[in-house]
Amino acid sequence: MGLTDVLHFMYGVENNFKRFRIKDMKNEKTLILIKHDGIQRSLIGEIIKRYERVGLKLVGAKMLVPTSELIESHYTVDPEWRRKTGEKTIKNYREKGKIPPSEDPLVITGIVLEGLKKYFITGPVIAMVWQGAHAVQIARKITGGTEPFSSADIGTIRGDFALDSYLMSDKDGRVLRNLVHASTSPEEAEKEIALWFRPEEVIKYKLAQDEILYKPSLEGFLG
Ligand code: ADP
Repeated sequence: MGLTDVLHFMYGVENNFKRFRIKDMKNEKTLILIKHDGIQRSLIGEIIKRYERVGLKLVGAKMLVPTSELIESHYTVDPEWRRKTGEKTIKNYREKGKIPPSEDPLVITGIVLEGLKKYFITGPVIAMVWQGAHAVQIARKITGGTEPFSSADIGTIRGDFALDSYLMSDKDGRVLRNLVHASTSPEEAEKEIALWFRPEEVIKYKLAQDEILYKPSLEGFLG
């Protein structure tokens, strides 16, 4: 085997690896929860429609009343969640020229987590697994920023159908009512899905539209 053969061989291996990774991309999964306020606002159909029409595939769905243990595990799958969520709250207050409820992010999230546990057990949620290329980021984009009042743009679920703010929720000692949860990274999604779904509840199937979304060539449709 000469040097050219070796280089050709390595090039082929690298290309196959790239192809495999790209093929895998369309299987990215994210966890979406329609929270209690989304259900009470009769927005189930509207919310599902938004994830569906972009091209994501629904591969798991159920309605349940979560336990506070499930909610605690869900929000702490990311060990950095407490810090990040507290810092986000403080930044939001500062941007509005307001004084945050505490200067310590962990104090804020301590209160938020207790609030989330109390809130989630008050009614059912619809838990869903959506699959597709860039599923996590696409779903976050459709969902919108955490605070409906300022960080969720118009055109997103939270921006179009909710009006809550940190100021209102913190003043009332409750969590933000922002209709949905969407995972923030593929790694987090994997852990969250494992909490809410047994492996056999996530269904592997083909959709007719998969071809239009992902097939490299669109030849063969005429005729
Ligand atoms: P997201 O849901 O956008 O991923 P986070 O993970 O930071 O946002 O927070 C989880 C949920 O906790 C939010 O959707 C919201 O309902 C609630 N929440 C977060 N921070 C606060 C806060 N400072 N006050 C009230 N509720 C909050």
